[in-house]
Amino acid sequence: MIIKLLGILILFYVGYRVMKMFRRIKSRDVKDYRMEDTPSRGEDLVQDPFCRIYVPKSQAYLKEIEGRPQYFCSRECCEKYLSGEK
Ligand SMILES: [Zn+2]
Repeated sequence: MIIKLLGILILFYVGYRVMKMFRRIKSRDVKDYRMEDTPSRGEDLVQDPFCRIYVPKSQAYLKEIEGRPQYFCSRECCEKYLSGEK
C-alpha cells in the first residue's frame, strides 16, 4: 500500500522534472533564436550625434533633448554631447 503510493509520488516527481527540463530547453531555444535573429533583421540604425557612430536602436542610449529623442552609442557620449552644447 505505502509502496504503491511511493511509486505514484516518484512518477509525479519524474514527470515534473521532465516538464521543467523541457520548458527550460524551450525558453533557451527562443532566446538563441532571438539573439540570432536580431542582427539579420536589419534593425533601424540611429546615429550618435556626438561621435557620428551608427548604433542599432535597441542598443542605443536614449535621451530626450529639448523634446526630441536623441540616440547615443553610450551614456558617456550623451554626457559629452550635453556638456559640449552649452
Ligand atoms: Zn558615441
